Amino acid sequence: MSIASVQQQKSDAVKELEQRTAVITDEAVALCPKCKTFETVWFTSGRLNKTQKFRQEDTGVYHDCGSKYPCFLLLRFQRRIA
Ligand SMILES: [Zn+2]
Repeated sequence: MSIASVQQQKSDAVKELEQRTAVITDEAVALCPKCKTFETVWFTSGRLNKTQKFRQEDTGVYHDCGSKYPCFLLLRFQRRIA
């Protein structure tokens, strides 16, 4: 087996892994405890997709209204987000 074919196999495996992780998307409804905003958010591979209104910190997802408490997250799919 030549070196070139080994490298080819490796990059195919990496590509497959990237494609697989890219499609792990969780949809959740975030409910802000302060202003009662109720909005759908998405997570890709456990990370909050960038939105203008919500940000993710270690302790949870926060709304940009200045709430000190993380939003309640109601997962549409029964899958862990962490
Ligand atoms: Zn809010």
